[in-house]
Amino acid sequence: MFETSIAGSLPKPGWLAETGKLWPRWGAEGDALARAKADATLVWLKLQEDAGLDVIGDGEQSRQHFVHGFLEAVEGIDFENKVKMGIRNNRYDAMVPQVVGPLKLRGRVHEAEAKLLRAHTTRRIKFTLPGPMTIVDTIADRHYGDRVRMAMAFADLLNQEARALEADGVDIIQFDEPAFNVYMDEVCDWGIEALHRAIEGLRCTTAVHICYGYGIQANIDWKRSLGGEWRQYEVVFPALARSRIHQVSLECIASQVPIELLRLLEGKDVLLGVIDVATDAVETPAQVADTIARALAHVPPNRLFACTNCGMAPMSREVALAKLEALVAGARLARERHV
Ligand code: ZN
Repeated sequence: MFETSIAGSLPKPGWLAETGKLWPRWGAEGDALARAKADATLVWLKLQEDAGLDVIGDGEQSRQHFVHGFLEAVEGIDFENKVKMGIRNNRYDAMVPQVVGPLKLRGRVHEAEAKLLRAHTTRRIKFTLPGPMTIVDTIADRHYGDRVRMAMAFADLLNQEARALEADGVDIIQFDEPAFNVYMDEVCDWGIEALHRAIEGLRCTTAVHICYGYGIQANIDWKRSLGGEWRQYEVVFPALARSRIHQVSLECIASQVPIELLRLLEGKDVLLGVIDVATDAVETPAQVADTIARALAHVPPNRLFACTNCGMAPMSREVALAKLEALVAGARLARERHV
């Protein structure tokens, strides 16, 4: 019950990249950068194990950003000439690369990190990939001229990499779809279909992460505009409940998501966000256990997992580590209370 894992990213050490940034500049290049990425991955593997997490991730130490890390391995994208684009329905501007030709993987994307994790931990490992809808919302299109067609092309590439990750020994593959909370109608029209294409033929556990974004100012401002009840999940969850995805990772603590919406995920594993990534205040184990208890009124205990609300990339390492420890201590407390 209440197994623990993180949504995805963790802060990068100062010797790997700029700290406290969502799109940090790398601190090295070539072989030295590859070595630094691997070392940072191992550091976080060890820290996650020592904190007591049940499922281990790579903390996305090898990607500059959760979307662009994947895109860098794709042919048909011009990274030299980035353009400014409003993303997540113009919530904020980002400098994004452009699709300029047919998309194709140049080779493996995350082989090194997956094999490194598999070689150095006996715990289950989870790997995150950006979801097709979130990708097309984070790149400019100069070739396809159609969002859905481009999303399906990306889904095929994601599937290619996901199958290879499974062969590397990855236990859980998660697709990050913050865009699902923005384009709710499109989720039902084609978002789920694109996800199905991305998981086609996989035998490992599959997950989707849908959140209200990193704890950056643009997201904090957006959340303030959403009112006292956030009901985006109400549209998306029934569609996910009917899907072939096994697990749904979602935002809960410190959010205005009505807790009873979790009922709409009947039949799915729920990775409940019990750690807020928008504040440096570290949760107490009791707060974490209380959040789990609220969800237990709507989700059976064997379906409930404890997780972070979102990635922790822009946070300080000390805070992130303290939050991992709170996550594990809180899940333990919830287990004790539940017996
Ligand atoms: Zn997230």
